[in-house]
Amino acid sequence: MKIAVARETRPGEGRVAMVPELVEKLTRLGYTVAVETGAGDLAQYSDQDYAEAGAEVSEDPYADAVLVVSVNPLDRSVVRRLPEGTATMSFLPVNQSHELVADLRDCGLTSFAMELVPRISRAQSMDALSSQALVSGYRCAIVAAGMLRRFFPLNMTAAGTVQPAQVVVLGAGVAGLQAIATCKRLGAVVKAYDVRAAAAEEIASLGAVPIKLDLETLEGSGGYAREMTEERAARQMELLAPFVADADALITTAAVPGRQAPLLVTREMVEQMKPGSVVVDLAAESGGNVEGAVAGEVVRIGHAQVWGGANVPSQLPGPASKLYAQNIVNLVTLMTRAGDEESAGGFAPDFADEIVDGSCVTEGGRIHHKPTREAIE
Ligand code: NAD
Repeated sequence: MKIAVARETRPGEGRVAMVPELVEKLTRLGYTVAVETGAGDLAQYSDQDYAEAGAEVSEDPYADAVLVVSVNPLDRSVVRRLPEGTATMSFLPVNQSHELVADLRDCGLTSFAMELVPRISRAQSMDALSSQALVSGYRCAIVAAGMLRRFFPLNMTAAGTVQPAQVVVLGAGVAGLQAIATCKRLGAVVKAYDVRAAAAEEIASLGAVPIKLDLETLEGSGGYAREMTEERAARQMELLAPFVADADALITTAAVPGRQAPLLVTREMVEQMKPGSVVVDLAAESGGNVEGAVAGEVVRIGHAQVWGGANVPSQLPGPASKLYAQNIVNLVTLMTRAGDEESAGGFAPDFADEIVDGSCVTEGGRIHHKPTREAIE
């Protein structure tokens, strides 16, 4: 049974869904691996690396594949030429991909979306949202440190003392906590805020100061945040404004599942920041936490340079690919049945398993994921 690894076609995408050092794990499960020519180039994995790891490298890896893995959804042109019954595994933002989901259904493909893998303990090793958020959070901290024209750490020298940078992080989920940890390692003084009560303890455990606002917390289901009312959003901005004004660097990572990113910082708040300050908005692509941030650009607002994130995990393509590929291997392992006297085994997703059931978008000519089916049909 063959697993095909697609070359990504999204402009600017540097990641690849499988890395040479993990090919052997798939081979040990009984698969052969075919990698599209040049698939790993931008993540610094050459065709030769894949070949040496035991993969076949080919311009057309799809023929006879039982499963095609990629980071971004496959192009519709590829989907339309895959034989009925082929499975695909990739990020697949179902809300924004109705035409593609309809194609996957109509072509009889079995598709799995990495962002739909349930966030339960057993699925942690398959959680690509978390692995990529970790990369993003680290990258945000490094960008802030690189853009700021001053030290992050305290420096006490014979020539005098240099005070540490003041960093504020808004949103302390997986990415925010990684940004906090990285800024702390670089020696900055970090304050952070999140609407979930549990986040305060996690912020403190990293040596940062949790910002406590006189507001109700907003826990939603599954450990995620709830959306704010307009009134609460306005009050939160008012209370956060002095913290933002004091910051040398502001990093925002707030998100609410299935919704646009919440606006946390107005243009006016950024205009109150000090000369030389920097703002890094990880959420710029999904609506922006900071008013005026533009994904993929650095814009000036008041005295601040505002960096808007665009496909941030892809900015560290090697490590992001390795983590993603490990998530894929773990999910494929879950979906692989060992052979016995009665059957040859191989790729056989068990839909009674909540991870398989939860992450499946289309199967057997129908849309398996109920919210998407209801939205499309
Ligand atoms: P996310 O990317 O959806 O959101 C990022 C953060 O933004 C969250 O912490 C959220 O609370 C925060 N936020 C939302 N609105 C905000 C606002 N108005 N102001 C400030 N902050 C705001 O979240 P995530 O990083 O994917 O994870 C969120 C939660 O899920 C965490 O509790 C995490 O521990 C949990 N989680 C569990 C698992 C698992 O069990 N397998 C895996 C990953 C994450």
